[in-house]
Amino acid sequence: MGRRPAPLPLGLAARSGERGAVCRPCRPHPASGARGISRSGPWNPRNSIGAVRIVLVGGCAGVGALAGAWAAWLAFRLAVPPDAAPVSRCPHCREALPAGWRGWLRLGGRCPACRRLTVRSWAYVAAATAGFAALAWRLPADRPAEVVLLIAWLLVAGAGTVLAGIDVAVHRLPRPILAAAAAAIGPLVATASVCAHDPGLLLRAGLTAAAFGGGYLILARAGTGPGH
Ligand SMILES: [Zn+2]
Repeated sequence: MGRRPAPLPLGLAARSGERGAVCRPCRPHPASGARGISRSGPWNPRNSIGAVRIVLVGGCAGVGALAGAWAAWLAFRLAVPPDAAPVSRCPHCREALPAGWRGWLRLGGRCPACRRLTVRSWAYVAAATAGFAALAWRLPADRPAEVVLLIAWLLVAGAGTVLAGIDVAVHRLPRPILAAAAAAIGPLVATASVCAHDPGLLLRAGLTAAAFGGGYLILARAGTGPGH
């Protein structure tokens, strides 16, 4: 039986670098659920924007701009009535869009033939850039589980940008996009749960997804929910 070390005075625990030392003002982080670790030293990444965080926010904002530009093109092509094929011609010059994957991997909403805008791509770029930057700024990213969860949230923001554009245009949420987003985000949440040794994380995410799915199912039955 070893002697328990005497509690260190407030602030001294942080300077000593002892991992696991807990000071009273530190509260569990709302996202990670981890115990508060005293970081009351001269640089505290939780309370200040450090160089790493600035790079993270800038990088995620750049990725968000690219994701928004792609989301604009996807929303333009997929904003069609239920059971209709994706848009295959420019609404201005009626030129056929590129076939195959080249017709999908485009940034922005300009027609490759006449160069006119087919969709307000600036709105998608602005929304995704702001969303990605806000997530990188506010969410913790110190531990592997937190980084994985941040990636999952970025995917939610990217898919949400596409779905919002389609919903505004044709009032439907295509199920293939919902299924693809769930298939990508589910394993990430499971990975974060394993990394954090927190099975409750996966359980809470599953319950939240089930609640949202149930709500959308009710809307679908009422005729105002996701389309095909
Ligand atoms: Zn055109």
